[in-house]
Parts: sequence; C-alpha cells; structure tokens
Amino acid sequence: MIKFKNDSDKELFFKLHPLLIMVLGDIANYFKENEKEFLITDTISTPEEDQELGRVSSSHRTCRAVDVRTNGIDEMFLKNCQNHFNFKYRWLGAVDSHGNSQLIVYKPHGTGPHFHIQIHGRFAINK
Ligand SMILES: [Zn+2]
Repeated sequence: MIKFKNDSDKELFFKLHPLLIMVLGDIANYFKENEKEFLITDTISTPEEDQELGRVSSSHRTCRAVDVRTNGIDEMFLKNCQNHFNFKYRWLGAVDSHGNSQLIVYKPHGTGPHFHIQIHGRFAINK
C-alpha cells in the first residue's frame, strides 16, 4: 500500500517515469512485508519549489525521484532496505559524484532525514 502526504502527489505519481513506479512498487511491498508504513511526501517539483528547498539535483523536476518518510522507522530496517535495493537496482539507480549507483539516498538533506529514491539521469523527463 502506497500512501501520500499530499493529495496533489497522488495525481503526479503516474506522471513519474514508469521505471521509477516499478521500483516504488517493489520497495512499498518490502515495507508492507515488514509492517512499515510507506508514505510518499514529495514527487514531481517545479524549478521554483526546488529553489525554495535548496535542491541541487534536478531529479524531482525531471520525474525520476520521490521522497519517502522515514521518521519513526528503525534504523536497522532502513539500512537493510537501502542496501538491498541499491544492489538490486544498481543498473537503474542515479549515480553519485564518485560514480556509485545510488537508488536510495538516506542522509539528512532538504527537509530532514528521509529516503530520496532516484533513478538515473538518462531517464529524465523534461516538461
Ligand atoms: Zn528528494
């Protein structure tokens, strides 16, 4: 079950790149099997919103990233989840400045700790 913080993101969800939607289905199922809530807090952004949040990456406005709430979820589960999916989708994840595939970025950034789930820049959808 995928939940949304904002109704507007429910609409935007299906405008994401289909490969990202596939990955999110897989991760949401992993959360469900471990009895964790999978709540999407952010999907597609505008350049103005990115500027306000101080985002350096274009991943949200090019339809290839979402944010998922991690507050209240144990660290061990989150780390295992990150490792599992970063390996499973190493052919699909966005690449960091060191050349490493990073499907799930989990570090304090933007609006506090959360999962930033992103696919590679070659899948960018420019509107
Ligand atoms: Zn993000």
